[in-house]
Amino acid sequence: MKKILSLALVLVLSLTMVVGCGKKEVAYTVEDGVLTMATNAYFPPYEYYDGTEIVGIDIEIAQAVADKLGLELKIEDMEFDSIIIAVQRGKADVGLAGMTVTEDRLKSVSFSESYATGIQVVIVKEGSGIESLEDLEGKKIGVQLATTGDIYATDEFGSDYVHQYNKGNDAVLALVQGKVDAVIIDNEPAKNFVTANEGLTILPTEYAVEDYAAAINKDNTELLEKFNEALKALIEDGTVQKIIDKYIPAE
Ligand code: GLN
Repeated sequence: MKKILSLALVLVLSLTMVVGCGKKEVAYTVEDGVLTMATNAYFPPYEYYDGTEIVGIDIEIAQAVADKLGLELKIEDMEFDSIIIAVQRGKADVGLAGMTVTEDRLKSVSFSESYATGIQVVIVKEGSGIESLEDLEGKKIGVQLATTGDIYATDEFGSDYVHQYNKGNDAVLALVQGKVDAVIIDNEPAKNFVTANEGLTILPTEYAVEDYAAAINKDNTELLEKFNEALKALIEDGTVQKIIDKYIPAE
């Protein structure tokens, strides 16, 4: 009897091990068969709501990568400053949000190959008299919280002059309402915001040129490798450029 019991125990134990191991092998995404993407869907043309659907460059690139990996794409919309935390805590597999690769962020997450370039620009009201970066000294600057625009502005002009908003659109609204004198934000969303709001203009000065990439959990080297392999193929065969051209018409 004792023997049978211990045999049964061994069986149960080895079964658990097999099941356990099996699970580990496929568990390179948070949810089996699904690529969960964290984003902040107020950043046109990279991610934004079209009715109730989230669309944009980042969505289509993530979808193309997911297709290559045989995964279903699931999008989680959250505040921009929650994205890296979601990736770190294993709540999302990847963060795509027109996110710039920075030394500081590299301490928290890994970044994929870069798939696009962003430029920090300055939006002001037409006829504001602000014509250069020097003119921003002592002015109220609106930014989106925790973005590189926020980091640069705070470094250069001091936090007293920087007004942080949760969404880029809210910073632009504050500019329209005269609560701030300028907004520092990425160029493509800037163009969208200027088109959507009358009386605004983008200064010709480029503030900083940056690389956009996908944030991935530091421990998930398997996903990083697979994601990069798929992304590289999509860059090489022109798919990524096609997606970008669809949302950013040539000038
Ligand atoms: N590129 C900027 C950054 O990474 C802004 C991104 C965003 O607002 N979605 O900080």
